[in-house]
Amino acid sequence: MRSLKALQMAVAATNKEVTICRVDQCQQTTREGKSFCTDHIEFQPYIRDLIKRMADRKLEDEQVRREGSKAVNLDGITAGEILLHLRQGGTRTEERLERETRLDKVIIHNYLVRLSMEGTIKFGRTSRNNTCVRLVNYDPSQLLEEDNG
Ligand SMILES: [Zn+2]
Repeated sequence: MRSLKALQMAVAATNKEVTICRVDQCQQTTREGKSFCTDHIEFQPYIRDLIKRMADRKLEDEQVRREGSKAVNLDGITAGEILLHLRQGGTRTEERLERETRLDKVIIHNYLVRLSMEGTIKFGRTSRNNTCVRLVNYDPSQLLEEDNG
């Protein structure tokens, strides 16, 4: 079937409108000149990258749960997400960050401890004595647009 596949791809190449999915047994055409059809979207490089990043993130978060703040990847998705939430208002309680990120209490606390050690955030207390964190270099001009309302 390899030669048939090669033929199909050669035919498709002569017609710029049509591309055949690169998966061997698949004969479906693809959209917008992509290399894979909608059934094989997981082969697209950016989807693979995304799946890998999500899997890496899960592993990283589990490692942070087990090993604490030293295991934090400051360039990882979770650290980035926490900072993104903090940029929306400068300050958040730990409870709110937990809800917003849907992360386990221990995991998020370990991330926050590390970010605090790095000097990125500072721990504080709200008037109701809840732990909150504040972005050290909070710049309101970087406020996300949907948060301006
Ligand atoms: Zn396919």
